[in-house]
Amino acid sequence: MYYESLEALARKYDRTPKQYAFAAMSAEQHRLWREKAARRLTEITGMEDCERTESAARRVRSEQRDGYALESWLMATEPDIIMPFYLLRPACPNGAAVLALHGHGGGKEMMIAEPSFAEELVREGFLVFCPDERGSGERRERFEQGDSELMRHGNSHRELAQIALGFGQALIGLAVWDLMRLVDLIETMPEVRDGRIGCVGFSGGGQQTLWLAALDERIRAAVTGGYFYGTKDSLLLMANNCACNYVPQMWKTMDMGDLGAMIAPRALWIANGESDPLSGHRGLENVYEQLEITKKAYALYAAEDQLVHHAYPGGHVWCGDGILEFLLEKLTV
Ligand SMILES: [Zn+2]
Repeated sequence: MYYESLEALARKYDRTPKQYAFAAMSAEQHRLWREKAARRLTEITGMEDCERTESAARRVRSEQRDGYALESWLMATEPDIIMPFYLLRPACPNGAAVLALHGHGGGKEMMIAEPSFAEELVREGFLVFCPDERGSGERRERFEQGDSELMRHGNSHRELAQIALGFGQALIGLAVWDLMRLVDLIETMPEVRDGRIGCVGFSGGGQQTLWLAALDERIRAAVTGGYFYGTKDSLLLMANNCACNYVPQMWKTMDMGDLGAMIAPRALWIANGESDPLSGHRGLENVYEQLEITKKAYALYAAEDQLVHHAYPGGHVWCGDGILEFLLEKLTV
């Protein structure tokens, strides 16, 4: 006999009101709600306890590749917290920058391995930034370091999420903080005109993209793949996801459709594989319910054309169809 708790917790989830769920009836109300919701997310992720540092970013290596330069950079995002990133610098910049974020269980290396969407972007003239998320790539802690195939795809999320918890922080908050510091740097780069900055990611990179775009209005266009669905099915009933998916108080705060609503009326592309198991046992139904929430926010601005949902055949796999064109239209026209 087993006496499980998950079903009971799911019922508790259902009867718990979400204090910052999107319910605005006008663009003005939406703006006020977005501001309050962003403040609340900053509190519950513990981002408010992140510490600023003045250390400058520096380029440590550069190699010429076919049509672009691959530069390796280091920057401090908090005192003594170093974030390495690649900057793919185009031969002919188009005036816009894109953060291209790696998925879960990898690092920035996977963004420049063939076939590479980051390379497609740089060949179109985008400055492309590929950072290592905390706990991934060159930011793995001691027990996960190493270059074997198994180790290269590992990460230190469990350790870092647990340590963060003790500080009242969540790993996604720390990841978003780091990305915001990268956006600070991008804003100072003369090749980037009028703050034309986008962000794209799949899976764990889709998670970072969704959160970054929700919290940082400097992101003009966001593409989130494989990470948009209702929390209950995907993160509660499927409880064996990595600790990086969980934020204290989140289930009393909002769901993913509300995160999407925070991005309105900025350009947002949401992509889901039709049979992605991470969407939960109800599949796309669990996606569309959240999409409806997000759509309502875009409707308040009559900006429905700024929101695209792409459902494609396949499971938890990246599908780049249409995304390059979307980013070119939203960031360079
Ligand atoms: Zn994780």
